[in-house]
Amino acid sequence: MPIAYCEECDWSRRVEDDDGELNEVMIRHYVETGHSVEQRELRASDRELES
Ligand SMILES: [Zn+2]
Repeated sequence: MPIAYCEECDWSRRVEDDDGELNEVMIRHYVETGHSVEQRELRASDRELES
């Protein structure tokens, strides 16, 4: 499951296996803030922490 992540302001956004939607939120954050957003894969260990 991919997430968009911004180191500059600790922003992150997760989408449900939809690369197009992830791309869209990454672009939107860049347009709103000027920050460069990274794309990361959420690891299984991260997922366990959320539940
Ligand atoms: Zn940011």
